[in-house]
Amino acid sequence: MSSDITFSIIKPDAMGREDEGKILTRITEAGFRIAALKMIHLTLQQAREFYAVHHDKPFYPGLVEFMSSGPVIAMVLRHENAVEEFRNLIGNTDPEKAEKGTIRADFATTIQRNAVHGSDSPENALREAAFFFSSLEIF
Ligand code: UDP
Ligand code: MG
Repeated sequence: MSSDITFSIIKPDAMGREDEGKILTRITEAGFRIAALKMIHLTLQQAREFYAVHHDKPFYPGLVEFMSSGPVIAMVLRHENAVEEFRNLIGNTDPEKAEKGTIRADFATTIQRNAVHGSDSPENALREAAFFFSSLEIF
C-alpha cells in the first residue's frame, strides 16, 4: 500500500442531513482518489476501539455515542501528501475555527458533530484503514 493514503469517515451528522454526496464531490474535486469505500453502522464497542487513543479525554463518551448513532461512510483516499492535504481540506476540528471554504466550515455544526474524520499521521492512516478494510478491498 502506498504511504500516500489517508483514512476518512463521513460522520453521522453529515449522513443524517444527506450531505454525503456534496462532501464526496468536494473530496474528489480536490484531487483525492477513492481507494476504498463502505457504509457501516458502528457498534458502540467498535467506536470505542476506533477512538481508543482518546479514551482519557472528557469528550470520549459523547464522541463514541455520536459515532455509533447512525451509519457512516468509511473510506481510504489517495493523494500526494494525503494526510496533510486532507487535513487542510477539512479544516480545524472546531467548525468555528475552521478556515472559510473547508469542509468542516461548511458542513459541521459543533466540535463533536464535525461532519468528517481525517487521519492525523501516515502511521495512523494505515492503522485506521486496516480497522475498516482488508488489503484486498483497497485499490
Ligand atoms: N471532539 C469533541 N470535543 C472536543 C474535541 C474533539 O467532541 O473537544 C471530537 C470531534 O468529533 C473530533 C474527534 O473528537 O473530530 C477526535 O478529536 P481530535 O482531537 O482527534 O480531532 P480531529 O483529528 O478529528 O480534528
Ligand atoms: Mg484526530
